[in-house]
Amino acid sequence: TRTPVNVTVTGAAGQIGYALLFRIASGQLLGADVPVSLRLLEIPQGLKAAEGTAMELDDCAFPLLKGIDITDDPNKAFDGANVALLVGARPRTKGMERGDLLEANGGIFKPQGKAINDHAADDIKVLVVGNPANTNALIARAAAPDVPAGRFTAMTRLDHNRALTQLAQKTGAAVSDIKRLTIWGNHSATQYPDIFHAEIAGKNAAETVGDETWLAETFIPTVAKRGAAIIEARGASSAASAANAAIDHVHTWVNGTAEGDWTSMGVVSDGSYGVAEGLISSFPVTTKDGAYEIVQGLDINEFSRTRIDASVKELEEERDAVRALGLI
Ligand code: NDP
Repeated sequence: TRTPVNVTVTGAAGQIGYALLFRIASGQLLGADVPVSLRLLEIPQGLKAAEGTAMELDDCAFPLLKGIDITDDPNKAFDGANVALLVGARPRTKGMERGDLLEANGGIFKPQGKAINDHAADDIKVLVVGNPANTNALIARAAAPDVPAGRFTAMTRLDHNRALTQLAQKTGAAVSDIKRLTIWGNHSATQYPDIFHAEIAGKNAAETVGDETWLAETFIPTVAKRGAAIIEARGASSAASAANAAIDHVHTWVNGTAEGDWTSMGVVSDGSYGVAEGLISSFPVTTKDGAYEIVQGLDINEFSRTRIDASVKELEEERDAVRALGLI
């Protein structure tokens, strides 16, 4: 029998946590033959609700679920963690300045990074979902100097999946026919979904669409503003699709991208494509055997360059702001 993989989820009692935990416990995160042990981290006010969710997890009698621990202590939550999903974050409230938001999140992600540094397993993989995800990942990473920098990633897979469906619906293709789509930059309104290297059933996607106005005025804003459109429509945030993307992100990281395809992940920049080294920015990546590589050598046209640069500039500003606050 295999030793269970320890999966830590922060903000476990929140909306995304509720959509996420059952899928992890059912085997969708790591595989249908991989037992898991869950560590749920919550703030003290969230502990009771997390206990309620744990009761429901018990009631599912998931064969792969080997244990559930609930705590408000990051040192316990990350002890021996193999996978950490950092979902809990301080939401932006009305009238809140960006600096205040970054500072509040620094108070969450800095101690969590330190706890990961001190207690997680050697193979720890971290996905930050809580916003501002890229910069929260940067803060956690800076607090974990003993963990290889590449283990801290931020989620842009939801943007990637949203872009796949928008492109499929525009062209009448199946989502599974679309390969090599890329989200560049920040998980924010400045993100850039790039179809110039994408293929639809083997043909270049941008040429198949053949409509730069649609790209600039419909596709990109639809993908970038989808979260707000969902809140407007359902009166609640896109928690289920965010949880689904978190599952996809980790599953792909662990199990690999298909031959000839890639995915989008926010990862530490090595300076590729002119993205300042050390920023956590979304890139096209291939994954294999639990490791990832940034796809190299893509030609970036003028249309893409302007948009990538704008998103990276925003990441640089966020980095400078958290640096000024002493968070990194
Ligand atoms: P959600 O579970 O809905 O969201 C959690 C975070 O995910 C938010 O930062 C949210 O960002 C982000 N997010 C990223 N992508 C999406 C998406 N597509 N749709 C929605 N959210 C997205 O928040 P809740 O308020 O329901 O729950 C948060 C929980 O975290 C609470 O139970 C709280 O107690 C807990 N918490 C735990 C902490 C800890 O463990 N130390 C620290 C802070 C909070 P955005 O706000 O931009 O939508």
